[in-house]
Amino acid sequence: MSGEVMLTLGVSGHSCADPRHLGLDAGAAMSFPAGWALIEHPVQGAILFDCGYGPQARLAMRRGLRWLYRRVIHACSAPHTDAAALLQRRGLARDEVRMVVLSHFHPDHIGGLGQFPRARFVAHADAWRQVEDSGWFGLLHAQIWKELLPADFVARLQLLDERGRRGLDGDLATLGGEGWDLFGDGSLFALPLPGHARGQIGLALRTHDGERAILAADAFWRREQLDLGRDLPWLTRLVAMDDATAYRETLRRLTRFRDTHPGAWLIPAHCAQTLAEWRQRHPSAVLEAEAGERGG
Ligand SMILES: [Zn+2]
Ligand SMILES: [Zn+2]
Repeated sequence: MSGEVMLTLGVSGHSCADPRHLGLDAGAAMSFPAGWALIEHPVQGAILFDCGYGPQARLAMRRGLRWLYRRVIHACSAPHTDAAALLQRRGLARDEVRMVVLSHFHPDHIGGLGQFPRARFVAHADAWRQVEDSGWFGLLHAQIWKELLPADFVARLQLLDERGRRGLDGDLATLGGEGWDLFGDGSLFALPLPGHARGQIGLALRTHDGERAILAADAFWRREQLDLGRDLPWLTRLVAMDDATAYRETLRRLTRFRDTHPGAWLIPAHCAQTLAEWRQRHPSAVLEAEAGERGG
């Protein structure tokens, strides 16, 4: 049916962090899956929302400051956990991926882009402008690793800007603001979720079995953050935030949506608990290597 899609959540890599870095109570280090999503559209075919770590990210993390990044957040991934390998298991060849929507340009979201040679890319104009305009230090601070982008990235890139943007309606009106109806059939709405990264976007969709889902990228990391509503520690704001005020406003909009739509799925990229619940509800709609075969 037009306007409805199949949603499968994927995991390509993991990292770890102290819960206090997210303003949560002290406890054991938390594991964060590097999540992405496969969206199967009846007309447009296979679309990815991000793609986790991948071969290019692994290569980059062997040296210098990228190596330090890997050590600090304990980032790990292995070839069999890459998005292309997981899709292959599911019977989907990498050439069949028609589009990758990029939430933002951090390595845990774009590290596998090079695996999809036939895909067009979609990103917010503000996010791309930062990639283009920033110098060495700006890119380092924004955690943008340009070497992860395929050589022909620009030729395959479509930017979301003022054109085609329109007010959100229906249940999405609760979120306020505007978005982009990517295919003009109401199946996929790109939503601005600024704060964590410049020009970050999420996706709102409705699945063929009637689930409303919002893929929220890194608008928040763990669902407890919505419940607690605590400010992030200063260090996290310094290293993981483009605009702390916009981050809080984005979180407020998403919390309001969750509170008024209790049946909807709010799915951030790295929340293990949300992923576990999705798996319980839709066991065949998760692509992830077994726990014992994650690799390092
Ligand atoms: Zn990020
Ligand atoms: Zn992330």
